Amino acid sequence: MSDALTTRFAPSPTGLLHLGHGYSALRAFDLAHRTAGRFLLRFEDIDAGRIREEYYAAIETDLHWLGITWAETPLRQSSRFPAYRAVLDRLKDRELVYPCFCTRKDIAAEIAASASAPHGPDGALYPGSCRTMAGAERARRVITEPHAWRIDMARAAALAGRLFWTDAKVGRVEARPEIHGDVVLARKDVPTSYHLAVTVDDAEQGVTDIVRGEDLFAATHVHRLLQHLLELPVPRYHHHALIADEHGKRLAKRDDARSLASLQKRGIGPAVVRDALRRNPPDIARLIDTGE
Ligand code: GLU
Repeated sequence: MSDALTTRFAPSPTGLLHLGHGYSALRAFDLAHRTAGRFLLRFEDIDAGRIREEYYAAIETDLHWLGITWAETPLRQSSRFPAYRAVLDRLKDRELVYPCFCTRKDIAAEIAASASAPHGPDGALYPGSCRTMAGAERARRVITEPHAWRIDMARAAALAGRLFWTDAKVGRVEARPEIHGDVVLARKDVPTSYHLAVTVDDAEQGVTDIVRGEDLFAATHVHRLLQHLLELPVPRYHHHALIADEHGKRLAKRDDARSLASLQKRGIGPAVVRDALRRNPPDIARLIDTGE
């Protein structure tokens, strides 16, 4: 008898769920279900400018339609800002983060001016302009100017030493957080970022197994480092291939024809969708209306 696992599905309420979300949610749900464990729904809604109120309910409705259920009230990250602030304060006390006053424009200009800007998985790395700011200037500006908080990656990674995590498909992976450079842990407008919130909440909610798309594989390097710095447990990861449409193109939220709601409207039953998503590899071609 295997241990009871805790998994989660963590969408942002910025649009309707499509088949790719359904696939990820179903995998997480099935994994918990097989072990008589817990499946959680969590709303990653730190981005007030992009979320829309109606999508919270729409996401719950679509998941229920698919046969996915959860016992606990879904956590909203927007209700967790005090917790993220407290964690950030711990990193500030240890001088593992520094305030960054740069605008996007400043950063782009600096990168354009440098002969060889290093790149990471998400593009050019932050050039580090604010990392080397003199203490007096930093202390003065932090009081009056909007600022983000970035991790001092070289310092944090050196402090942590070698770290590893396990992916169900790939096996043991050595964490390489330094490929991301000084990522933002708290944005100018909210006291967190995706990296910080996801790491803190997965630990807070006792998530043992993280099921998500392989587009987030590289982000796990940062999450593993944060787990170490914050003394959090290390979950197992199950990064899965992304579902593509019949042309091999990745599905997107704006792509309405692939939304679970549109399948529902076309009279396709949830059992058919579940069956298609549970095939290996999932077979969604027959769900997509090719007559469009
Ligand atoms: N909120 C993220 C998304 O919608 C998922 C984050 C995660 O699973 O770690 O893509």
